[in-house]
Amino acid sequence: MRIVVTGGSGLVGKHLQEILPDAFYLSSKDCDLTDIKKVRWMISSYTPDVVIHLAAKVGGIQDNLKYPADYFDDNILINTNIVKVCKEYDVKRFIGILSTCIYPSVVDNYPMTEEDLFIGPPPPSNFSYGYAKRCLAVQIDAYNKQFNTEYNYLIPCNLYGDYDNLHNENKMHFITALLNKIRKSKDNLLHLLGTGKPLRQFMYAGDLAKIIKKVVEDNITESFNVAPDFNYSIDEMAKIALEVTEKNYEIVYDRPDLDGQFRKDVSNKKLLKIFPDFKFTSLKEGLKQVYDKIS
Ligand code: NAP
Repeated sequence: MRIVVTGGSGLVGKHLQEILPDAFYLSSKDCDLTDIKKVRWMISSYTPDVVIHLAAKVGGIQDNLKYPADYFDDNILINTNIVKVCKEYDVKRFIGILSTCIYPSVVDNYPMTEEDLFIGPPPPSNFSYGYAKRCLAVQIDAYNKQFNTEYNYLIPCNLYGDYDNLHNENKMHFITALLNKIRKSKDNLLHLLGTGKPLRQFMYAGDLAKIIKKVVEDNITESFNVAPDFNYSIDEMAKIALEVTEKNYEIVYDRPDLDGQFRKDVSNKKLLKIFPDFKFTSLKEGLKQVYDKIS
């Protein structure tokens, strides 16, 4: 089976490469997916049976608020081009990776299920990114209906992992930034933004990689959320991080006005129906793994 992984140089791509080494892992330098001619060249050269599509323009809240047009244009083009060209070249399986950022900003009942995807707009903080990525779900469902393709998408929650960018604080994911702050604290204080109250589901990127591998190997064609059961508050996560790193620092909340969305947890019922034995890495284990890596 010939497998192409787009976004192969990113956090998830590197975790996937550890357990699925025989695929072709591509970065934007190998093929800029915003350019359909290059995408046609890439798919016709690699002739894959399966495309695992991880590539996206991903960034933090500040960057999303400053450059919303770039986030929309790049993600719409990347996604539209790759799905269209996979269909043109009869690629048998396509697995797109979305994000829980595409879900409505607020719903009546949590955790959100796959049926809630279109009942409201994505959060204002990443509105254009969220809408562009949501369109990939629309596109895949439309292709399956019109062309009988067997394409699907997975919707993972926030991620952290071993390969986060430690040299660029703006690009660091929350968990790595948290551990890095603990590592660098010189005054026995841990300064965080917001109130610590918002709830977040965080998943070790290695767990998502395992699910993607199982989806390919077991030929699963359903689309579903990928998230663990736990949904800690920022404050609880910070306390777990202090416990794991054996630091007795006081947590100080600097900007209570910067809380963001209160919660956005999604249900993993559908996932556990498909893979009933799947065990997620606990936050404690995952934090320990990443802290050892960055220390
Ligand atoms: P990442 O580390 O930011 O990596 C992004 C990848 O996309 C890189 O390989 C990058 O290539 C590639 N890429 C960007 N623009 C491209 C373009 N124009 N053409 C081709 N490739 C391009 O992302 P990640 O954290 O691994 O995320 C993987 C997927 O999971 C994404 O779809 C993301 O939306 C989703 N997701 C991520 C999170 C999270 O917390 N990280 C949470 C939920 C969902 P270069 O290295 O060459 O730039």
